[in-house]
Amino acid sequence: MGTPQQMKDAVQRCIDGHKDELHSLSRDIWSRPELAGNETHAHDRLVRFFSLDETWTVETHYRLPTAFRASWGPVGGGEGEPPVLNVCFLCEYDALPGIGHACGHNLIAEVGAAAALGLKAALEIQTELPQPVKIIVLGTPAEEAIGGKIDLIEAEAFADVDLVFMAHPAQQDVSFLSCVALDEVSVKYHGKASHASAYPWEGVNALDAAVLAYNNLSALRQQLKPEWRLHGIIKHGGEKPNIIPAYTELEFYLRTPRVKDLCDLKAKAEACFRAAAVATGCQVEIIYPSHGYCNILPNATLASLYENNGRALGIQFQEQVFFIYLAGSTDFGNVSFTVPGIHPFFYICTDAFNHTEEYAEAAGAEEAQLFTLRTAKALAMTAVDVVLLINKCWHAKLRCLSIYGKPPHIIIIII
Ligand SMILES: [Zn+2]
Ligand SMILES: [Zn+2]
Repeated sequence: MGTPQQMKDAVQRCIDGHKDELHSLSRDIWSRPELAGNETHAHDRLVRFFSLDETWTVETHYRLPTAFRASWGPVGGGEGEPPVLNVCFLCEYDALPGIGHACGHNLIAEVGAAAALGLKAALEIQTELPQPVKIIVLGTPAEEAIGGKIDLIEAEAFADVDLVFMAHPAQQDVSFLSCVALDEVSVKYHGKASHASAYPWEGVNALDAAVLAYNNLSALRQQLKPEWRLHGIIKHGGEKPNIIPAYTELEFYLRTPRVKDLCDLKAKAEACFRAAAVATGCQVEIIYPSHGYCNILPNATLASLYENNGRALGIQFQEQVFFIYLAGSTDFGNVSFTVPGIHPFFYICTDAFNHTEEYAEAAGAEEAQLFTLRTAKALAMTAVDVVLLINKCWHAKLRCLSIYGKPPHIIIIII
């Protein structure tokens, strides 16, 4: 029976002991960047990583072609047959067009794998927990383009998951940052072609509709809340100057800090799109072609445990009061509305910003390893804390709501 500190020491020893294999794993994924949904090399590499240890059960192509699941355990369990606590670590591994791993998702894969190994090592010296614990690693593809985690939620890949952990490379160490909710909208105007000089009165100008819509949204912007964002392009503007355009297409992103505000922004934007159609006599189609992304729900319990463990490892956290919203979006937001979890951000030894060539360089560099593995240790140590706290609740016959119930998936820990 290990003490909590011995379990955390085991996490650190294990991750340090595997540092070469872990670096080689992320470097290999980094050196062969694959776009969202096409991550076959990364899938196979991660599957091979876990298959080398036969105590892991590995499921390839899990619910999506390039997703996988590796599981270990359960260990523990006592009288009264408490339900298994399923602790999940997420690995992302998709890259960006043209600039490779400029979001550092190869390091997310490394953090997920390392933290899972670390928690396994801790549980191996503490096998007599009253509540059985199982570790799950879920490989979640296609974050950058189509929101693979949302497909996985719909495919019930999170149905048996009780707690979820991942961490994302950034410019600072932050335990919580609420990425914004996002909806992508595609708007198509259908008019009528005609000779633009000889018979312009016979035409219905779809480009005028697109331009009016663009300007309507620009006027709307002054009335939006400061954190709301709308931005877009004219994707198709016509064929030739001497033809009144019969068809045009706009693509816009709508973002708000909270998903509930997105409905208001969508209603306002749709009014702008429809007004342009009325003014020009065009027909309009308003389509939401992909998943909507939610903001990340905060989890103060997990954030505070993560910060305590991170500080013990030397992480200096950014003051969150200055840095609450990141104007980007992530499919982890939707996960946070499904399962309790944490998605801290971590420094990787560069001042460059995500989605730049410099950041892609840094994500493959040796210098990022110290910070990546430190983050993995802090995540696994946080998982140790949660496992022990929940076991303490069970042991003391205290109610620990509602980690098993669905919904509302809120951890209430009573100590
Ligand atoms: Zn990104
Ligand atoms: Zn990313």
